[in-house]
Amino acid sequence: MTEAAAPVLADANVRQMLSPFGLDVEYTRAEGNALHYTDEEGREHRVVDFACGFGSLMLGHNNSEIAERAKEILDAKVPVHTQLAQHSHTNDLARALNEIIARELHTDEPYYALFGNSGAEAVEIAIKHAEFDRLQRARELLDGVEDNIATARDAVSGGGAQVSPEAYDLAGVAGGAGLEDLVAEVRRRNEAAAATPPLFLTIEGSFHGKLASSIQLTYNEMFRLPFKSLSAQARFVPADQPDALAKIVSDERVAVLDLVVEDGLVRVVERDFPVFGAFFLEPIRGEAGIRPLSEEFARTIQQVCAELGCPVVSDEIQCGTGRSGAFFAASHIGLRGDYIILAKSLAGGIAKTGVVLVREGRYRNDFELIHSSTFGKDSFSSLIALKVIEMLEADGGAAYRAAEERGAKLKTMLEAVRADFPDVVKDVRGRGLMLGLEFHDQSEAASEIIREQTQHGYIGFAVAGYLLRNHGIRTFTTASALHTFRFEPSIYLGDEDIAQLETALRAVCGVLRRQDEKGFAVV
Ligand code: PMP
Repeated sequence: MTEAAAPVLADANVRQMLSPFGLDVEYTRAEGNALHYTDEEGREHRVVDFACGFGSLMLGHNNSEIAERAKEILDAKVPVHTQLAQHSHTNDLARALNEIIARELHTDEPYYALFGNSGAEAVEIAIKHAEFDRLQRARELLDGVEDNIATARDAVSGGGAQVSPEAYDLAGVAGGAGLEDLVAEVRRRNEAAAATPPLFLTIEGSFHGKLASSIQLTYNEMFRLPFKSLSAQARFVPADQPDALAKIVSDERVAVLDLVVEDGLVRVVERDFPVFGAFFLEPIRGEAGIRPLSEEFARTIQQVCAELGCPVVSDEIQCGTGRSGAFFAASHIGLRGDYIILAKSLAGGIAKTGVVLVREGRYRNDFELIHSSTFGKDSFSSLIALKVIEMLEADGGAAYRAAEERGAKLKTMLEAVRADFPDVVKDVRGRGLMLGLEFHDQSEAASEIIREQTQHGYIGFAVAGYLLRNHGIRTFTTASALHTFRFEPSIYLGDEDIAQLETALRAVCGVLRRQDEKGFAVV
């Protein structure tokens, strides 16, 4: 069959969607911060990649040191898949990550590692672990209530106590009905409370993956709503609004009833049932439009969760592994998650891995017996991740300093563009090599083309296509904030790449300022 006649059986719809914007190019070579494609006339074009795997290429495309290490591992015939055996490479990786946790997050509490294949899979593992832990906490609570019922029965039957009149009121049982009726009602209510499904908390705009459970923690409704019935739900808290968080917690709180014997009286007290599964947050929300979490709100979340006994899960899949200028973006805001998740850049853009690190105080080691995956924790990806860590940590963390320095230079340029086009550029945000530039909304634009492209939600693709075809720049908007373009290059970003982006962005701003009728149509 000729190429032209070959049916497109993978991603045909996406390809069709990209085509009108000139984004359906096939990249044939990638190195460092650049991608290359060949046009219809056979000319090769270099593209500066500011999307960089949506955060997975902190060390660039096909990093030669990592590629060399990959070849070495394969040539050495290191066993890759050996389930149910010892995995010293994986353990070395967990230890290396623990050393960085100790240094950056200032704790000597160990974190135990659970491995998966991708970001979303690691999030699913965290969800499962949190649920496993929640049910055990619930069981401990309800067992405690049973112990207290037995104590109350002994006290009443031995004549040492009687049921207090308020106890009947609190349980909604007729006054004087007797201890057994009270116990029956307490158990009935507690059984109903225990059937409450877990509720997860996260922040508006968050992105935590697209698998069956993780998608319910992802804000974008187009992705989330079709699958609502598949899994536990999340409440999305507006960022930096402690009062809104307090209201959500108080609205969703579920209490069970317990009995206590005090001063010869059996009383009824309420106890919090562990309904909150976990609070998932990103120290820098990527798909929400590159929005760093404030130190203050991080502190509030930690306090509220500590009070609820609910674990805080720090999703560093996109912002972690050095991109922020430190290995953990949470280290900039004094946030120490009970769970920490890494993926994307951890495997150097060559292998695939995802890891959930759970601090000892919250870790349920029985979980290891009930969760596994064929490709989780293979030696190849573990050794590649170890190589990535070695490269990041080399020369006293030169790579983190490079992320900070390159990021600062890039941000200075973005801010200069904003200063010259305040009518077009609304904001520049982010940290290190995770930056965003937000355009003002164009849904009321004077240009019909620009207005319509905005109203139909594809102005982002139109601008991305224009940047690619006219300026050799690759970037996209974030998934839940469609006016914000992402800039997440590798540490190998050159000054000339920044200059190329500046020219391109100034051209885009010019089109928007002039409301050029041609808009961003690819001709
Ligand atoms: N969490 C965050 C913060 C992410 O940015 C992403 C990917 N954009 C994911 C989870 C999901 O990771 P993956 O695409 O590897 O499933």
